[in-house]
Amino acid sequence: MAVTILQNDTSQDPLHKEKHLTSRFIALEEQYGAHNYKPLDIVVERASGVWVYDVEGRRYLDFLAAYSAVNQGHCHPRILAALLEQAQKVTLTSRAFRNDQLPLLYEELHNLTGFEMALPMNSGTEAVESALKIARKWGYTVKGIPEGQAEIIVCANNFHGRTISIISFSTEEQYRMGFGPYLSGFKVIPFGDAAALRAAITPHTAAFLVEPIQGEAGVLIPPDGYLREAAAICNENGVLFIADEIQSGLGRTGKLFACMHEGVTPDVLIIGKALAGGFYPVSAVLSSREVLGVLTPGDHGSTFGGNPLACAVARASLRVLVEENLSDRSAELGAVLLDRLRQIRNQHIREIRGRGLWVAIELDSPARPVCEALMRQGLLCKETHDNVIRLAPPLIITKEELLWACDRVQSVLEQL
Ligand SMILES: *Cc1c(COP(=O)(O)O)cnc(C)c1O
Repeated sequence: MAVTILQNDTSQDPLHKEKHLTSRFIALEEQYGAHNYKPLDIVVERASGVWVYDVEGRRYLDFLAAYSAVNQGHCHPRILAALLEQAQKVTLTSRAFRNDQLPLLYEELHNLTGFEMALPMNSGTEAVESALKIARKWGYTVKGIPEGQAEIIVCANNFHGRTISIISFSTEEQYRMGFGPYLSGFKVIPFGDAAALRAAITPHTAAFLVEPIQGEAGVLIPPDGYLREAAAICNENGVLFIADEIQSGLGRTGKLFACMHEGVTPDVLIIGKALAGGFYPVSAVLSSREVLGVLTPGDHGSTFGGNPLACAVARASLRVLVEENLSDRSAELGAVLLDRLRQIRNQHIREIRGRGLWVAIELDSPARPVCEALMRQGLLCKETHDNVIRLAPPLIITKEELLWACDRVQSVLEQL
């Protein structure tokens, strides 16, 4: 019986018509799954473009886009076609053998971004881990830092993933608590403070790792000129400027990368999420030959990193991003979104900020009930921290859909 429900064979399943389908799935998930998330109580069955549909057939506009992993929209037909085509040919070779997709992805990443080399990984976290390893090795072999003493500077309120080394430099108590002992070699400075960066650098500093806009922290935009100044400070001191653009990159902020708003080219760029349009975990570290060249055979690896299915999906995802001008759409519609939201009058709104189709509404009260009310109105988004609503629709959203969503946000906020 449970199997019938899970396969969603609606023709045979009398329960499907009942209102309890959602609670059945939720009960199974709560009983058998680890409780490391607290999702909104919608059970998604399918999605297309900006719309997702739950198991009871209700339709919602996705205003989160899987934290920017589906910038191209759900189940984009061209990415789907690439996935299906490649899945019928070859999916995994491991890097023990070469495949015919990885070189093409490398070339296309180079042509799109200008970076000389790339290292393919899977999850974003793995790409950050890889960048940290590379920065350390570069510090020892190129910069000449004494073995074992490399330091990496990071920012308060960062989010770079969940592995033990990455949570070691998180400033979010819950991300760390119970998971020690922690990895050493990291120094935390305030975000947006170039003077603090200058003061923190020592001859042992290998790299500065930063999100150009802090997403999880609540779409925090640093002061104008910060990225340019930070990059210059790194450059003067022989420190690698590493931008984690896993969430801010690939069109989200209205440019291909958020660093471009200040004309900054980082020494190392980390991408993930929308690199595969939501179909597959694909991430990459992009850099120069000087930096990525520190890796020699056997230094680092991943069974799935750079597999032909991942590469075919990433190639199609990048093509969609470019050919559908998604960065420009994000810039244009982001301005519409900010403008429309700023017309909403409510005493609980502390600030509305954003860049491109990436906006935060900061309240002086809990955001969770607002997200739940928005869900009942057919709009899906998620709180970050307690009092911030993060809005980040797929970049393919139309103006009409965007305004429809804004009406919902307005009606919910005005009832607060
Ligand atoms: C999501 C995210 C990560 C981690 O990526 P995963 O694919 O979840 O491992 C790292 N850095 C930033 C800025 C992110 O938004």
